[in-house]
Amino acid sequence: MTSQTDNESTEKTGPAPVMRFLTLGGAEVHVVERGRDQRTTFSGTTYGFTVHGWTCHGCNRGSDYYDRWEEWEARDKANAHAEKCRAMPKSTAHA
Ligand SMILES: [Zn+2]
Repeated sequence: MTSQTDNESTEKTGPAPVMRFLTLGGAEVHVVERGRDQRTTFSGTTYGFTVHGWTCHGCNRGSDYYDRWEEWEARDKANAHAEKCRAMPKSTAHA
């Protein structure tokens, strides 16, 4: 078993966010694409869509890696979080 991948650094080097929201404290909440997924309707028709996740870069909250949100779902959740979150941008001075 190899060492665990650091989610934090994976996020930072991942794809550019498709949307960004600002928390009350000024931190950014990013909505990012996480690949493609496929769902099946009741009638058996399959359809594919781009799945999205979100991460607050102030307080580290966000969707679980296994959450498969459509863009509007991730947007609403990210925006709802940004509305209430008071996290400020992380200091990078010590990094
Ligand atoms: Zn937050």
